[in-house]
This record gives sequence, structure tokens and C-alpha cells, in this order.
Amino acid sequence: MSYTIGNIAAILQGKARLTDPGATIEHLLIDSRRLVFSTTSLFFALHGSRNEGSYYIGDLISRGVFNFVVPAGVDVEAWPSVNFIIVDDVRNALQTLASVHRQKFDFPIVGITGSNGKTIVKEWLYQLLQPDLNIVRNPRSYNSQTGVPLSIWQMDEVHQLGIFEAGISRPGEMSRLEDMIRPTIGILTNIGEAHKEGFANDLQKAREKAILFAGVKQLVYCKDALTPGFNPEHLQSARRDQDISFFSWSRRSEASLFVVNKTTTNTATTINGVYAGIPVSVTIPFTDRVSIDNAITCWCVLIILGYNQELISERMRHLIAVDMRMQLKAAIHGCLLINDSYSNDLLSFALALDYLRQQSVGKNSTVILSDILESGLSPAHLVKLVLDKVEAAGINRLILIGPGFYGIRAGLEVAEGRPSTGCQVHCYESTDAFLQAVHTSLFRDEVILLKGARVFEFERIGHLLEAQTHQTILEVNLSAMVHNLKAYQRILHPHTKVMAMVKAFSYGSGSVEIARLLQYQKVDYLAVAYADEGITLRKDGVSLPIMVMNPEEVTFDALVEYNLEPELYSFSILRAFDEYLNRAGLAGFPIHLKIDTGMHRLGFETFDVPLLTDILVANHRLVVRSVFSHLVGSDNPLHDAFSLRQASDFEAACGSIESLIGYTFIKHLSNTGAIFRHPHLQYDMVRLGIGLYGVPAPGVNLPLQPAVSLRTTVAQVRKVQVGETVGYSRAGLLHRDSIIATVRIGYADGFSRKLGNGVGSMLVRGALAPVIGNVCMDMTMLDVTNIDGVREDDYVEVFGTNLPVTRIAEWCETIPYEIMTGISQRVKRVYFEE
Ligand SMILES: *Cc1c(COP(=O)(O)O)cnc(C)c1O
Repeated sequence: MSYTIGNIAAILQGKARLTDPGATIEHLLIDSRRLVFSTTSLFFALHGSRNEGSYYIGDLISRGVFNFVVPAGVDVEAWPSVNFIIVDDVRNALQTLASVHRQKFDFPIVGITGSNGKTIVKEWLYQLLQPDLNIVRNPRSYNSQTGVPLSIWQMDEVHQLGIFEAGISRPGEMSRLEDMIRPTIGILTNIGEAHKEGFANDLQKAREKAILFAGVKQLVYCKDALTPGFNPEHLQSARRDQDISFFSWSRRSEASLFVVNKTTTNTATTINGVYAGIPVSVTIPFTDRVSIDNAITCWCVLIILGYNQELISERMRHLIAVDMRMQLKAAIHGCLLINDSYSNDLLSFALALDYLRQQSVGKNSTVILSDILESGLSPAHLVKLVLDKVEAAGINRLILIGPGFYGIRAGLEVAEGRPSTGCQVHCYESTDAFLQAVHTSLFRDEVILLKGARVFEFERIGHLLEAQTHQTILEVNLSAMVHNLKAYQRILHPHTKVMAMVKAFSYGSGSVEIARLLQYQKVDYLAVAYADEGITLRKDGVSLPIMVMNPEEVTFDALVEYNLEPELYSFSILRAFDEYLNRAGLAGFPIHLKIDTGMHRLGFETFDVPLLTDILVANHRLVVRSVFSHLVGSDNPLHDAFSLRQASDFEAACGSIESLIGYTFIKHLSNTGAIFRHPHLQYDMVRLGIGLYGVPAPGVNLPLQPAVSLRTTVAQVRKVQVGETVGYSRAGLLHRDSIIATVRIGYADGFSRKLGNGVGSMLVRGALAPVIGNVCMDMTMLDVTNIDGVREDDYVEVFGTNLPVTRIAEWCETIPYEIMTGISQRVKRVYFEE
């Protein structure tokens, strides 16, 4: 299905100022950061709450975009050579285009709405049906007024089924979504509290949601979770003159699928029911109520699609979790932490409590809850509901945070130590107030549920509870990092981009903090080793493009979900990713190609290029963002000739890829060593790694500052007599009466055992104190006989400003990279700026 800008102008009936009406449009763009295909994209300049789309027009034109839909008032004469369609309402235009596109297809479309479970039901249906059908669906949960049109735009002749979810927060929105999706099969998941505030009451909300079903032939819903006064069976088909055929399920009353009971093991649930008078059952690898409900809904859909029970059972057995938002983590003092600080409404609170109860059998439990912002209830009413739920769940302690709860704390004080259940209630005005007032010793051997709306930043509480209290600290000087970044940038050409290597927790120094800093300093790209590292960054709001160097197949979903760009280095991974995109119905995904020019680690061979480009031009699923290779000895003059040979092979490969795929991409070869030593090999971008941390490199003459230092403290000081030994295996024999300081760092922290018996030293009161005896797991003993006045809790530098990490590396006969990345995760990272 292809459109020209001329066709689209006719569809939108806007005023058009077209200089090239025949221009082909393949992609719709609403976010300038997501631009991939400049010439075939049509940018909709939406009016957003924080961003005015039309501000980006100039920038996009300079990046090669020349088709725009804009509101009246944009000075189109300022850009004479591009195509403009001028409309009254840009969002409307986007939706109209999607509606028209939708109507070109007549394969079945499943439309899902409800307050909870939409995305899971959609993804599970996809899992269950994709062995047989080519399915198009919303990426992630693109279910909004702008997400749905972009999802619909993906529909294509190759598809056989569509599954789209629709989410609304205000009256009037659903009819727009219905007009685009036009589902033929409807699914109503439960109607809960989310987004209640936009509606007068539950009934209004239920009716609004039901607008999605105006044209469905079949409707699946659960009878047990209906809003009072709302009966889907009274719905009439507004678009068709035939009646809707209803398929309900229930645990309580007669329904198309009557759920009789369930049996649960540790890891699975068997659900028994009756359908058409015959006993039926399925088993799913989940045990919680939410998953069971969602699975039953999917079961109903498979029945109406004509699947037999045997096949349904077989497929259901292999359902996999979609997105575990509720994380369970080990926390301080033997506690477990359930961190669900993603959203907060009454229904999801109830679900989280259910989960907490599952996890806290035989243990105490605490709930930390923020104000529930969108319930539409008064704080007093809300608190009563919360207390009822918390007491019913047998929770021992409830900590309420937020001005709403705080405002009515007088009423809550009465609840403190309620005789009925013994649940203690505490109240704080804000997250800050809580953090200031509370000491971590308050929490011990219990399960803690952290449930808060986004604005309350409960992740800060999460950090506190997860943090290890260990006095060995890796200090990261952020100002020094900025200084080092600038030192390198000064020796680059003004247009050379910088990709900052933040793999392996930014060389051991942390991840999010460093990435945020680099984002603020406007580096162009980040690179991580594995998808998880990238996900962590995205979850913490890092929006820079991120390259993932080892994209494993199991992480493809996450790559797409979190907008991470894979490095593809072999035909097998390239084909797997291409195939994955095909299945997911995605196109135009940015990738990076690695060429092997001599490292012989990962990468395509130069002679692979023709076959490689054949695959790339066969469809537009993969878009080459960059091509790169890695120098094996950029820091050593001995290897200069080899480096130059690598560079010329790299250039040749880039040249042929470029000419065969017909568009350009970023080329990069240099790592830290090469930036200084081979300035002519900058190409379009350099990859800066170790240099950021200020580690001095041979032959590099730049004013760098050490950015990381590892420090610990003295736990005990004692006198030990000549002839005694210190530590395990009696290795540390004393040749004189000595003073020994035991410090709180061992090989489990990353202080290598190779540094024992005098090989390594640490700085105590400004002097080097050699390690005596073997390094232990958590402790090391230093000979401080020659240093005056060493005391308990004295600060000890393991490496840093006064003792360069390169020294430790030499003692260990390794390189600074290994020392830095070997600092274990239990060592707390502390960041500071000067
Ligand atoms: C780690 C890495 C770098 C950075 O190397 P430094 O020597 O730390 O600058 C560059 N490119 C690739 C492919 C890497 O893996």
C-alpha cells in the first residue's frame, strides 16, 4: 500500500502547498527524535503540552525531511522547496489518515479496552495466535489518540489479523479511536479506577469505553466485573444492522464460559470450566489472580476463533510473562522489597497487595503508599478504603506519604495500633519528609511494598532500602568527568560526534548517573554491552540514542520496547533480528554494523559486504545508522602500521556498503587511544571510553583528572609482636614488632588477592602501607608500623587522585580496565560534583 503526498493531501482535504505532489510517503512521524527515513517520512507537527511540533520543522528540513502536515499559522513561505499540508487540527488529520488507511483492509480486527490488562491480553493473544496468523498490533502500549493512528498505519496486505488496544482518559476520546480501529471482535477487560477523574462516574466511563464496540460482530467480556447499571448485552451495533453476538465468562453465574474452579501448584494454575455443556480446562504457568483473569479472556477469544480445546490447552501452557512491572528485590536487613512505583490507583493497589500477601507468608509486611491521585475520592473516603484493604490483607504497618493523606492525619492517628489488627499507621507530608525522618533500622526481616504515583519519586525510597551499608565506597567525581570529556572534545574536529562507552556500568563507575551527566553534556550516542544495561538507562529517563553491542535474541523485545539500537555483527544475528522485526510488524529500525578489520572478535568480514547489503536492500526493516570497526592497538606505536591497514579496510567496506544501499550513515573507528594518537581517523564519530575516567594512557598528553577513586576505612588497629603471623595460612610473618590496621575491603569487593603479601599497598594518612599476609574476602590487613597515629575509621585510599589506578593495575599485572570493572556491585557508588 503506498501513498503519495498528493493522495494524502486529498484525503486530509487541507490546503496544500506541494512542490512535489508525487513524493512517496511510507512513514508517519510525530517525534523528531525518531526520524529514520527522511525522504519518505511525513511529519505531523502536533501541538503538545511541552513541545510544539512546528518548532522542529527547520531542524527536520536540514535533516532531509520534506513532507509536513502543519497547523495554520506556520510560515510555509519560509521553506519554498518542501511539501506542506495545512490543516485546522493536526491530530485530527493524523487520525483521519489512519481511519482511511484502516478501511482498505477487511481482515478481522480485535479491539481491546478496559482499565487493566489491555496490553497483557493483546500480547498474549499475539503469543497464542502468531503460529498461524500474520498479526499487526500496537507496538508496546501505543493505545492513545496519537499511538493508535501510528499503530494502524502499520497495517499492510500481508497481515491476516489485527489486535489493537484503545486507552482513554476523557469522555469523547473513544469515538475517535473506534473510527480508526473499527474492531470486528471486541474485548472488554475489567473497568477499574485508572483515569477515573476524567469521568463523572463509573457508568459514564463504562459507556464511553463501550463505544469501541460500535461495529463488532462478537464481544468478549467478564460478567463478574461489571459496573453496576452497565450491561454490555444491551449494546446495539451502531455501525451494523446485525446483532452483536456476546461471549461472556463468569465464576458466579451462567455464562458462555463458566469457570468452575482452579487448582494451583507453586508455578501453575489449572482453570476448570464448562463451555457448551462440556467440561473444559487449561493450565497456565502463572498463579496470580490478574494473570488468571487475563488468560481466561484470551481463552474466550480462542474459542470464538474456532480453536479446539486441545490446541488451546497446548498453547496456553506456554504463555510467557509480558512485562513484570512489580519487581521483587533483596533489600536491607533481610527484607524483601516489592517495588511497584509505576502507577497508583485503587485497583492496581489491590493487585499489588495481593502480590505482597503471596510473598509475605509467615513474615511481617509493610506498605508504603503515596496519595492516590486519580481516584476522584476525598482523602477521607480514600483512606477508609485503603485501611480496609490493608487490614483485610493482614498488613502490619502502613506508611502513608503525600499532602492528601497528611492533611487528614489527625483521623489516622486514631487508627494507629488499631486493636482489631495491630496495623500501625504512619503519615508523612512528602517523600523528602519521610526520607529525613526515617532510619533504615526501622525495617527488618519483612516484606515491603513500595507503591507510589510517579510524581512522588518513590525510587528514592527504593534506593535507600536497597542500598548496602558497607563503608567501602567508589567515589565518582562528575566534574572531573566533564573536564575529561571536554579535554578530548577540544582535540576533535567541531563536527565529530562522540559516542560515550558506558558499558559494564560505565567501566564500573555506575550507570544512570554517568549516562545522565553525558546526556546533559550533549554527547551524541551512548554504547552499552548488553540490553539490560540499556534498559536500566531508559528506565531512568536517559533518552540519548543507545547502541547495544551484544544484542542477544532473547532481548529483542526489550530492544524494541526501550528503543535500543543493536550492533549486528554476523549473518545469524542480522537475520534473527530482521525476522523478529518482521514478526513484530516493525520497520525502519536503526542498527549498527560492525566490520572485523583485524580484531577477529565480532564483525562481518569485508568480503561479506555484498551479501550483507543484499539483505539490507531487500526490505526496509533494518536501517543502517552506523558502520564501525575497532582498532586493536591504537595506544601503541608498535601497532601503528596495523592500525592504518585496519582503517583502509574499514574505509573500503564503508564505501561499498554506502554505494550498495544508497544512503549514508555514521562511520566510526577510534577509541580513546586513537583519538589522541590518530586524529585523522575520526571519521564522523569517535568512541570515548577509558579517557572519560581520566586514566592516564601512555603517550597521551592531555590534562586529565582522575574521576574515580576507591576508598575504604580502618576497622581496627592493633600491635602484633615479632614472630607472629597475620591472616590466613600464616602467610604474613612479622620480622619486627608491628602495628597492623585491618581495612574494610577484600577480594569480594574487587581488591585482588594477587595484591597480598606486600605486592600491593594502600594510602593511609598520605603514606603507602603495604598489604601484610593474604587478602581476605571482606578484609585486608595493612602494615602501618611506619605511619604515625593511624586510628579506627581512618580513611584509606585504595586508588584515586593520589594513587593512580594504573599503579594497582601494574601490581596486579593487568590493565586499569580490569581493575575498574572488577569493583563489585556491593561497593556503594557515590557521586559528587565539585
Ligand atoms: C570499549 C570499547 C571502546 C572504548 O575503548 P576505550 O579504550 O575505553 O576508549 C570503543 N569501541 C568498542 C567497540 C569498545 O568495545
